Amino acid sequence: MSTERAACGPLSPHLATLGAHLDRYLRFEHPDAMHEPERWRHVLGGDLPSEGIGIDAVLEQIGHWLLPNGSQIPHPGCTSFITTGATTVGVLATLAGAVASPQRLGATAFNHLEELSLQWLARLFGLPEGFQGLYSSGGSTANLVALGGARQAALERRGIDPAQGGLPGRCRLYATAASHHTIQRAAAVLGMGRAAVVRIAQDAEGRMRPDALRARLCADAGDDVVPVAVVANAGTTATGAIDPLRAIGEIAREHGLWFHVDGAYGLPGILDARVRPLYDGLALADSVIVDPHKWLGAPVGIGATFVRDRRVLHRAFTQEHADYLEGACSVEGVQHSMESLGTPYAEFGVELSAPARGAVVWALLREIGTEGLRERVCRHNTMARHVAARAAAHPRLQLLRAPTLSICCFRYTSDLPLDLDALNQRIHRELLRRGRHMPSTARVDGALAIRPCFIGARTGAAEADGLVDEVVEIGDRLLAEHGLRAFQRPGAPVAASPRTAAIAAPSTQRAGA
Ligand SMILES: *Cc1c(COP(=O)(O)O)cnc(C)c1O
Repeated sequence: MSTERAACGPLSPHLATLGAHLDRYLRFEHPDAMHEPERWRHVLGGDLPSEGIGIDAVLEQIGHWLLPNGSQIPHPGCTSFITTGATTVGVLATLAGAVASPQRLGATAFNHLEELSLQWLARLFGLPEGFQGLYSSGGSTANLVALGGARQAALERRGIDPAQGGLPGRCRLYATAASHHTIQRAAAVLGMGRAAVVRIAQDAEGRMRPDALRARLCADAGDDVVPVAVVANAGTTATGAIDPLRAIGEIAREHGLWFHVDGAYGLPGILDARVRPLYDGLALADSVIVDPHKWLGAPVGIGATFVRDRRVLHRAFTQEHADYLEGACSVEGVQHSMESLGTPYAEFGVELSAPARGAVVWALLREIGTEGLRERVCRHNTMARHVAARAAAHPRLQLLRAPTLSICCFRYTSDLPLDLDALNQRIHRELLRRGRHMPSTARVDGALAIRPCFIGARTGAAEADGLVDEVVEIGDRLLAEHGLRAFQRPGAPVAASPRTAAIAAPSTQRAGA
């Protein structure tokens, strides 16, 4: 067989080998990728290969060099990013789609699940009856698509079709500084410009202030601008804050504005009865997004946009007529899967070719059901509350923001005149170096916080306690080893002896446990 034809061989023996490699990777016994980067860079090759090495050799390189030097994100102790490691069934369904559904075209079982799973998500998160969805690559694209719909609707009301003729003037989007930066990018890509995003003031908990929104909309009413949408957060990325959705939604209605809710991270929080009331007003939304590749544990590459009526997305994103696409979209009376194009998802967003994402979401929900997902969300929210309680009670920890969802912002602190930002930065770096607990940092009211976001399906209570213990241990050790001088706050009087930076006696250490 020619080497080229060899590329079409059977899958299963290779999958068994890959499966063993993947299981080994998930034990996380390997060192971090930056331990010896030259070695794997060398083995994986430099020059464009002219002769192939064959599938067995490639698989060997994947197993021994690629996977062990992959990401730390799926590690149970990694709480940095909101993206997580995929669950097993999500990986299996992704693979099934990669083999058997190279497109979202045709009257196939995969395409049936695309629509069915979107409806399941809408029901799961309590979206109003009739909401229609669309998958895309993630929250960035999901926001882009939703705001594309908002832009279309806002200008159509003025008799203008922006999809055809572009923008007639200055547009505005109303959001807070806690909104995800992809909102600005969406504004730029949609031709409104980053400057179109107006910052509305937040309250002490980082939520949009409805009075500030109302004041700004009234002030803008006299201006020569097109108000396009209000963007609210159902779970901000830094702290998990949920904006007052009902108040914002009602103001948006009053002003005839599209109301967009970014729930990329936090929408599944609605499953936890303790925080469900915070989602009151979600039903006023014109568009809502959620990322199945976050709390649902799907492999990365799955976001979902929901709108009241997908036809506005069609008008915003439809392609020019393509001659080769002459099949009907209806699946009524179809005898062969290729006789119909199926639902024209490509007309509702910015992707034509796209993987089968519905089958993945279907598999995740089939496996554990709504109750399984609710359990996961509640467990993670409880973990954030537990970290908060320990931080509040510990003499050398400070809770910077009480958690709303599964994010807790806290830091190591001291009564001494120390640069706490620098100290916590060092603690964070040491946490990463050790590789057992890997949170991110965030700024909360100007202070550098240690920020775990508990979201991984494999992440449990042990990771929450372990993180708190390790922060205290590293903070204590840094002060004991380096003394006060290393973390002296600029301008503060230098202590007589660095050793007087003696930390509280170990007997008081576990006060918050
Ligand atoms: C993660 C996130 C996004 C961006 O989503 P991607 O899937 O990373 O593109 C948007 N908004 C919020 C609130 C997020 O947390």
